[in-house]
Amino acid sequence: MPATAPRLSVFTESVIRGTTRLANAHGAINLSQGFPDFDPPEEILAALEKAARGNFHQYAITWGAPRFRAALARKINRFTGLAIDPDQHLVVTCGSTEAMMVAMMTACNPGDKVLVFSPFYENYAADAILSGAEPVYVPLHALDFHFDPDELARAFALKPKAIVICNPSNPTGKVFTREELLYILKLAEEHDTFVITDEPYEHIVYAPYEHVSFAALPGAFERTITCNSLSKTYAMTGWRLGYVQAAPEVIAQARKVHNFLTVGAAAPLQEAGVAGLELPDSYYTGMREAYTAKRTLFLNYLKRTGLSYTEPMGAYYVMVDISPLGFADDNAASEWFIRTLGVAGVAGSAFFREPEHRFIRFHFAKSESILHAAGERLQKLISCY
Ligand code: GLN
Repeated sequence: MPATAPRLSVFTESVIRGTTRLANAHGAINLSQGFPDFDPPEEILAALEKAARGNFHQYAITWGAPRFRAALARKINRFTGLAIDPDQHLVVTCGSTEAMMVAMMTACNPGDKVLVFSPFYENYAADAILSGAEPVYVPLHALDFHFDPDELARAFALKPKAIVICNPSNPTGKVFTREELLYILKLAEEHDTFVITDEPYEHIVYAPYEHVSFAALPGAFERTITCNSLSKTYAMTGWRLGYVQAAPEVIAQARKVHNFLTVGAAAPLQEAGVAGLELPDSYYTGMREAYTAKRTLFLNYLKRTGLSYTEPMGAYYVMVDISPLGFADDNAASEWFIRTLGVAGVAGSAFFREPEHRFIRFHFAKSESILHAAGERLQKLISCY
């Protein structure tokens, strides 16, 4: 039979999704693949029922239903102050996952370099490679996952076409400070680099930290390609609703890529998604409080295990340093956690370019009773080292 494309040989199956399958096979509490175990807000569910009986069953406009884009533009303006023109600055995509692929294919030619901070969300290197670009990794140093300004400047000297920033960050929980972002902007301006920023956790940030949207920094809009989604903000990861936001010249090209990749996001879901975008500010405050409570609850259990971890500033992931447990390899550790403790987390090496095997990533977007149960199981670690 014919050989498949060799460029795929560098990829493995997603470690996150593989861990979920193993967790399910063993009936473990699954704190690996990060998605909420609760429903979207009632307003969205009601709108979905209504959309089913409306006239939304054929293709929407390729780059997004007008009502959805208009609601999106208003919502972005409400939180970032940016004046977004729904007809010029947005392409609606199938989740931020497609948005990232569109951004990468819009910005890069084959052979271009793309800076990616390591650790990073699994998809970024794959997006770069699939679009023919070459990822160049810049380490974020544990345990606070800061970057070294000189190291970053040296990476920019390689003349990358783009840099990818995940803010708030999956898997580290890092929220980039305004100063860090301004430094990245300065380098991007000096080297005429696109900034591709993935911000689906923008509303999940813990006091006193604040999320700064890169595109809203002074002078940043024209070189920023923002990728985002409704998945995490409204607990609807299965809807696959996302968007690219950028300058009109970039959007004109991104529309073409999106059209050829997927034609468009699901029309009835865009119609129903408007109800989420129109939720009042109190929804976001409530969500932040709920996640803050989950974070406190889960971190208290972790604290009692005596293991070190990075306190997340945002998102709903925590990287735990399991080196005292003495595993040679974090994949073996992840399997042991599933089989012996009944709690699943992702082997941290899935996120690192460097040979780093001392972390397991857990997520805490779970109901409090599940977090208590997982926390109790993790207490057995105390007698393991
Ligand atoms: N973003 C989630 C995570 O990092 C889900 C990843 C996925 O399976 N698409 O766990």
